[in-house]
Amino acid sequence: MMSSGCCASCGGPLVTISINVGAGQRVMCSCARCDTRWWHSEGRVTTLAGVIGDLGDPVGQRPYRRA
Ligand SMILES: [Zn+2]
Repeated sequence: MMSSGCCASCGGPLVTISINVGAGQRVMCSCARCDTRWWHSEGRVTTLAGVIGDLGDPVGQRPYRRA
């Protein structure tokens, strides 16, 4: 389990979950105490909507995957 610090809101312990999407790796950080959640994309904070967008992005930007 990665230890990436503590919650910015309450200082509680974080739970991090990494997933791989077509556009790269996304990391969900969740506070075990206050349940604040946010996402990291390539080392930057992103939104859940952004992650879902990456998940659902078909082949629009990836013509090479059309085989
Ligand atoms: Zn917290």
